[in-house]
Amino acid sequence: MAVDSKHPETLALHAGYRADPATGAVAVPLYQTTSYQFQSTEHAANLFALKELGNIYTRIMNPTTDVLEQRLAALEGGVAALAVASGQAASTFAILNVASAGDNFVTSTDLYGGTWNLFANTCKQLGIEARFVDPSDPENFRRATDDRTRAYYAETLPNPKLRVFPIAEVAAIGRELGVPLIMDNTATPIIARPLDHGAAVVVYSTTKYIGGHGTSIGGALIDGGNFDWEAHADRFPLLNQPDPSYHGAVWTQAVKPLGPIAYILRARVTLLRDIGAALSPFNAFQAIQGLETLPLRMREHNRNASAVAAFLAEHPKVSGVIHPSRQTGELRRRADAVLRGGHGALVGFELKDGADAGRRFIDALKLFYHVANIGDARSLAIHPASTTHSQLSAEDQAATGVTPGYVRLSIGIEHIDDILADLSQALAQA
Ligand code: PLP
Repeated sequence: MAVDSKHPETLALHAGYRADPATGAVAVPLYQTTSYQFQSTEHAANLFALKELGNIYTRIMNPTTDVLEQRLAALEGGVAALAVASGQAASTFAILNVASAGDNFVTSTDLYGGTWNLFANTCKQLGIEARFVDPSDPENFRRATDDRTRAYYAETLPNPKLRVFPIAEVAAIGRELGVPLIMDNTATPIIARPLDHGAAVVVYSTTKYIGGHGTSIGGALIDGGNFDWEAHADRFPLLNQPDPSYHGAVWTQAVKPLGPIAYILRARVTLLRDIGAALSPFNAFQAIQGLETLPLRMREHNRNASAVAAFLAEHPKVSGVIHPSRQTGELRRRADAVLRGGHGALVGFELKDGADAGRRFIDALKLFYHVANIGDARSLAIHPASTTHSQLSAEDQAATGVTPGYVRLSIGIEHIDDILADLSQALAQA
């Protein structure tokens, strides 16, 4: 890290980079290259043998991507990161890095739909069982654990319910049993740091807030460096037994001179090498541009979303507002403990007149974009019952928290008066 700071505003601009050594460029250069010239045959051999760390091939590492990785690790309080092609690739790697056929992991039921499909179907196809449990009781994670359980998985602020996951409670159960907690922090960068609450790994879709401008798909994994994989050697053979794909390297041993990075190093040099879901350097460059203003944007997202939640709560056509600021009791206590400086950009609400009103509302919007995305600088809206959740039965929709009149908003950083004016005119037509 070039600058020593604990403040996200500073780290987002300075961590991992201080002027390009080759040119003096202040902005992080876009190294749009596939390959890197080796200095000698000895140098090349050392790089391949991991005796020396350096650039070999952009499928495995790239200097632009490296800055993104260092910044993300610094912002999360982790030891190292790996950027990948999408959020979906990040979740896939997070699991495949510790689980093989015959293993299982325990996941919260409150998940992004794409992650749900990945876990319920593709992981199953690979012989890895996802055990879905209700996160409202953290003990459900313990109950679903056995000696083939390789990880716990959850989202910090899953939509549509927008209930903060009990990170500290589930992480503590995992630490007792030797199971690492992997947190998808896509909806709450800057405002939540899952590693501070005991999570071992953080995953992101950088497509959302980190990129921030709706231009580039990307993802990342951040290694907390705080989980003792060696102490639970039986549970993590992939990290503790000789890796036949890397001339018998034992990852927990091989990393000893480098620090506690067994998890992320294995993900890079085996999964990324073999599966090839590399982030393009151009998208890394775009994610860096987004990251530099992320702390500033999150403040505006938070502020605008809270104002929207308060506005909707008073509206006669609205029967309910789903936002951490409207929660009470244990849910609110947890939201306040995990989310710092705001509650994020997502706001859900229910229209009294159900699905027809939901569709009329969406069709009447002028400023808000009607898209399946979240986390753009622009305000976004969707009616899940007729789109993202339309394939589910009414019962399953209700279980996910989606009622016929539910609308999901991702509040942008436009002027709040314009946001409220658009909501107001669309509600008048709903
Ligand atoms: N995790 C969450 C919470 C998401 O909302 C998404 C995308 O919508 C993903 C992961 C997947 O990310 P990507 O679309 O970058 O693959």
